[in-house]
Amino acid sequence: MAREKIALVGIGKIAMDQHVPALAASADWELAATCSRHGSVQGVPGFTDFADLLAERPDIGTVSLCLPPVPRFDYAAAALRAGRHVMLEKPPGATLAEVHELQAMATERGLTLFATWHSRMAQAVEPARAWLAGKTVNRAHITWREDVRKWHPGQDWVFEPGGMGVFDPGINALSILTHILPAPVHLIAADLDFPANRQTPIAARLRFNGGVTADFDWRQEGPQTWDIEVATDAGPLALRMGGNVLEIAGKTVAGESSIMGEYPALYARMADLRRRGQSDVDLAPMVHVADALTLGRREQVAAFDF
Ligand code: NAP
Repeated sequence: MAREKIALVGIGKIAMDQHVPALAASADWELAATCSRHGSVQGVPGFTDFADLLAERPDIGTVSLCLPPVPRFDYAAAALRAGRHVMLEKPPGATLAEVHELQAMATERGLTLFATWHSRMAQAVEPARAWLAGKTVNRAHITWREDVRKWHPGQDWVFEPGGMGVFDPGINALSILTHILPAPVHLIAADLDFPANRQTPIAARLRFNGGVTADFDWRQEGPQTWDIEVATDAGPLALRMGGNVLEIAGKTVAGESSIMGEYPALYARMADLRRRGQSDVDLAPMVHVADALTLGRREQVAAFDF
């Protein structure tokens, strides 16, 4: 089958690290154009204005938006108005209401909207979900500690309103948690550490009902930690490496230490949604972030600069 044409918008870190290689290896998609004010991809026609791309390339039916969350809504709405299918990087928007609006627009026009959660595509997430199904979860703890300077070098937007701070990676853990737990939980308390010079938290500790807790920190240098540990009536389960390795009762049973399968799986899923004429928008991870920012107790910590 011919590959469908797709445009990539916002050629920055994640576009270059993951989207471009995933599309280059995809049997479903042809990267037919980019749109970015400064970035480009060698050998691919590049636009700097999104309206021009939409007007001049009616042959491109799908747009994948790799921008930060705050500017994303306007691009997504313009694409949907122009009859394009849309794929959203995580978090799907700056607010829940704007994503609801996009959902309504896509439904009204019969277009596919895919709010991606790349961590849900990690190799051990489905086996973990299957193992947990029907079991009783007594406790669960997330440890998501990484180095913001490594993953967001110089990206001040993460500390601006709507950038979500440490919830930018933390929402990845929540996207796994909300997918694998056999019963939903809700946030009951949070402590948020705001650097004195910033608008978003650099660390957060969350408490949910059902014995679920989370520790997010963006100040971890050296080895990075992306673990979810679950105690059940049938013994312990742990997801490590951001959901790519599964341990049952301390023994590795599935997955491997690589995140490189996640974006190819997202694009395969988008192709499948397109073939079925469906959308996939699950806002459960973002609801927890919104709740934490609503309910969280704010502490001021040392100023942070890149
Ligand atoms: P980034 O490099 O800072 O931004 C991506 C590109 O978006 C920029 O290069 C810029 O391109 C464009 N852009 C930025 N601000 C804009 C604005 N106000 N209006 C229009 N375009 C704007 O960010 P990133 O790290 O790739 O992250 C983008 C998204 O991917 C985020 O939602 C993030 O959570 C997600 N993500 C990031 C990572 C990671 O490791 N960094 C991993 C997974 C997912 P131009 O200046 O050329 O227009």
